[in-house]
Amino acid sequence: MYEYFQQQLKDKEISHNFRTIKEYHPIDAVSVVYDDREYLMMASNNYLGLTFDSRIQSAAMEAVQKYGTGSGGARLVSGTFPLFTELERAIAKFKHSESALIFNTGYMANVGTISALCDKNSIIFSDALNHASIIDGCRLSKAAIQTYRHCDTEHLTYLLNNVSKDTRKLIVTDGVFSMDGDIAPLDTLYELSREYNALIMVDDAHATGVIGEGHGTSAHFGLDGLVDIQLGTLSKALGSVGGYVAASKVIVDYLVNFSRSFIFSTALSPADIGAALTALNLIETDIDIYERLRDNVAYMARALRIFGIEATDTTPIFPIIIGNNEDVLAVSHSLWESCIIGTAIRPPTVPVGESRIRLTVTAAHTREQIDYVCRYLKQAMSNI
Ligand SMILES: *Cc1c(COP(=O)(O)O)cnc(C)c1O
Repeated sequence: MYEYFQQQLKDKEISHNFRTIKEYHPIDAVSVVYDDREYLMMASNNYLGLTFDSRIQSAAMEAVQKYGTGSGGARLVSGTFPLFTELERAIAKFKHSESALIFNTGYMANVGTISALCDKNSIIFSDALNHASIIDGCRLSKAAIQTYRHCDTEHLTYLLNNVSKDTRKLIVTDGVFSMDGDIAPLDTLYELSREYNALIMVDDAHATGVIGEGHGTSAHFGLDGLVDIQLGTLSKALGSVGGYVAASKVIVDYLVNFSRSFIFSTALSPADIGAALTALNLIETDIDIYERLRDNVAYMARALRIFGIEATDTTPIFPIIIGNNEDVLAVSHSLWESCIIGTAIRPPTVPVGESRIRLTVTAAHTREQIDYVCRYLKQAMSNI
């Protein structure tokens, strides 16, 4: 009975694609301990370094004391505690939308939103490099999926032209692409959505807290209040866990009634919500945190280029494309030997032949740490 699974795992090992989970002991936003050695974390999405901010830690603890450790049920069944409503109002305001809804993860927000809004009579236009949770949402919806080449609005226009005007349509894109760090051309995508009568949805998982003064992709392009659905996560720059959708009241009411990942799952705990709410308030009131991130992004791009490694200062995601799995594992391993965590990203997360080290910098890294990483990355790459 187990032979099939064992064989599948063997195949993963042979193609240098076998994955395991390592246990680290976090000590602050950028350092972890493993086997009594301290490692520098260059692989998290904790962009603003907020996970150890004492104000957010206190908010989480206060929420637990006030409202308990668990929420006890799905919100439609057992109701909701006040922090939830407060967070949804804050997200709507932050995203310049009418309304907002919290999901348990960004993954569940994508799957639950796309599968609720689209059905077998809809067509979804999806960027070729969209996140797996968008792809899974598209599949679950049973809609026809038309994938356009990465950020290629001409290709998208061509596809839109071949579809009748009254078919229900959704254009969906990552705002900041998770494995490449580039930004979707949301201004043109938005124009196309109006011209062809399509809903437009942007996934701000890596954009919230990171671009548009922290407000995300719509703000970055001056599209405040225009994009139909802005989706994101509380788990990356906001340092908590959870997902959200910011949209019109109609869309949010619709999701409350039709989105299965919202309806059939127990609500997040008070600690998660308390932490996210305080993090969101901090981003709005303490612009220094965002500025520190932007400074570090610019500094890291410069430092990489000094070592002859190609880099742009668009976002905190630095894809160091190596090529094959064996080489990328060798680079990742030598970084590890230098006490740097730079995870090897391999297929199916990225296309075959584009395996990479995905380095991320946060507001909490120091310039010395960034210099150190760039120097040892250069060394690791020259050894393959
Ligand atoms: C991480 C990520 C998600 C999923 O968010 P989680 O809260 O981690 O489930 C969704 N979309 C994109 C683009 C992501 O990078």
